[in-house]
Amino acid sequence: MTAAWIGLGANLGDARSAFDAALSQLDAHPQISVLARSDLYQTAPVGQLAGNAFLNAVCRVETSLAPLELLDMLQSIEKQLGRQRGVQWGPRTLDLDLLFFGEQLIESPRLTVPHPGAWYRRFVLDPLIEIAPNWKHPLFQVSLFELRNCLQARPLQIVLTPHWSALCEASHDQIASLFPGIKLVAENSPCLTEDRATRSLWLRLLSDDWSATVAAHAKIPSQLTADLTASPGEPLEKVLDFLTALHDEPQRLDCDP
Ligand code: ADP
Ligand code: MG
Repeated sequence: MTAAWIGLGANLGDARSAFDAALSQLDAHPQISVLARSDLYQTAPVGQLAGNAFLNAVCRVETSLAPLELLDMLQSIEKQLGRQRGVQWGPRTLDLDLLFFGEQLIESPRLTVPHPGAWYRRFVLDPLIEIAPNWKHPLFQVSLFELRNCLQARPLQIVLTPHWSALCEASHDQIASLFPGIKLVAENSPCLTEDRATRSLWLRLLSDDWSATVAAHAKIPSQLTADLTASPGEPLEKVLDFLTALHDEPQRLDCDP
């Protein structure tokens, strides 16, 4: 049996009912038990095309399925509950993401685990912290609680590789006004704070693939590294979506209205 974490999201229709139905279907599977679920969290939509505010939640399951079998199951539930795939990151009745599968690091064409956005998207991190604050992110080996503390530090220094630095240069003022307290700093800039105390707050934005993320992390284990390869849109949009997701403070709602 493996412990797995699943993220639920929706911004169309009756999200509460969709989440309840999805969890019942998961639990009804002979090889899956739902062991815990978070409250609901309301968050600003990420991405220009996302539509209304999102509702999010996470659950912890135990399963004897293989990771891809669990993904198949999640996708069949999304389909049954009416998800129409259209715009990537567009409005949806139900989105089910596999966030963690035990401590496994998986990279295959259909599945990346841990989910690359799990550690910086507050709408995933906050519900995760509610049910598993001490769970260590399998790649960074930092607890979810500590990860959120990193994201909440102000000023928060985000280290940009030359690729991203060039892309963000013209938009520094816009970014500074949208995200107060967040400082984008080029990797080779003299403004970069080098002291050890702040080192764990560094974020790198990579444009490479997941294996590059893993490799970069192995080289500099104190750095949290974001992989934005899978995010849709123009490069600057990717950065804005990344910053929105980490800057947002999701609002916790009671499970029973
Ligand atoms: P998103 O969740 O980013 O809004 P989708 O739900 O449309 O986007 O998923 C797009 C693709 O992501 C799916 O076809 C799926 O195979 C792939 N994928 C890769 N890693 C994961 C993961 N950890 N959880 C869910 N889907 C994943
Ligand atoms: Mg998904």
